[in-house]
Amino acid sequence: METDKRAVTVSEFEIIDRLFRRDSGFRPDVELGVGDDCALLRVPADRLLAVTMDTLVEGIHFPAGADARGLGHKALAVNLSDLAAMGATPAWLTLSLSLPAVDRSWLDRFMAGFYALAEVHGAALVGGDTSRGGVLSCTVQAHGFLPLGGGLRRGGARPGDAVVVTGTFGDAGLGLAVAQGRQNASEEAGTYLRGRLERPTPRVSAGVRLLSLANAAIDVSDGLAQDLGHVLRASGVGATIFADAVPLSEAMLDTLEVEDAQRIALTAGDDYELCFTCCRDNLDAVFKELADCGTRATEIGVIDAEPGLRVAGGSGAVESSSLAGYRHF
Ligand code: ADP
Ligand code: MG
Repeated sequence: METDKRAVTVSEFEIIDRLFRRDSGFRPDVELGVGDDCALLRVPADRLLAVTMDTLVEGIHFPAGADARGLGHKALAVNLSDLAAMGATPAWLTLSLSLPAVDRSWLDRFMAGFYALAEVHGAALVGGDTSRGGVLSCTVQAHGFLPLGGGLRRGGARPGDAVVVTGTFGDAGLGLAVAQGRQNASEEAGTYLRGRLERPTPRVSAGVRLLSLANAAIDVSDGLAQDLGHVLRASGVGATIFADAVPLSEAMLDTLEVEDAQRIALTAGDDYELCFTCCRDNLDAVFKELADCGTRATEIGVIDAEPGLRVAGGSGAVESSSLAGYRHF
């Protein structure tokens, strides 16, 4: 009988199956984890289930030969970042892998990165799928909980709200330029920037703490200007942001002139920081909560009634660059 070249063979599956069968019993809400036809999970009666999915494809989201451990981290991090942007607490994960070949050592490293981050957030891998595929691709689905009626939606921004961000911006975009040899950087700065690209930190605790304080939130995967634009459109408002207020890392400032740094901070993607809006009355509480969970928070602008995104201050480069494309909706 001809073997189906697309299928992962039984012996291969036995090898990799062990990797996915880490005990998920540390969560009492996992009735049945990896190993059966379905996972069986207890959704608390007083919670909303938040569900999100993201795929990383070789050649599109990461280069061939990317570090396996970093990839396992990032495949999960981008999903946890979506939960964070909703204010949800992570609970359960599923993982679909499409592999050109089954390489045990690569999988070990991928899963080490995945599990290390899952553990930080108390999330359990409860199932998934593994198949042979022409190109390496990893899809994670993350499930989290919210209080009934809760969730930091994109449509909640109101005129007068402060626009606040976590962390610093542009690091991942600059890290990519460094990784691709398009940008020189000191060894120290380069290592930091590449780390931000390859191992983003999902702002999960920050998101949960913002649930009762913020009006709208999004995680920045496609660039600050573009992703804030999604919030503005969903909310039917506009914003003015102050280019000089957008937080930049030391590595960024060591590597680029400030005009270039600001332009990249507003337009480059992959930072996975949160951008949210809140009533000015809540600002003190926001800064306190985020400081308590070790997350830098910076006020960068204000929500206006007039639609569109306006960038005040900064250099002409910011005003006239590709950002202009995002100024009118
Ligand atoms: P089925 O044929 O019923 O889809 P599979 O052979 O694909 O079952 O999977 C067997 C078990 O292993 C299932 O419980 C499935 O959830 C789990 N599994 C398969 N691949 C993965 C993976 N990449 N991550 C986590 N669990 C997986
Ligand atoms: Mg299957």
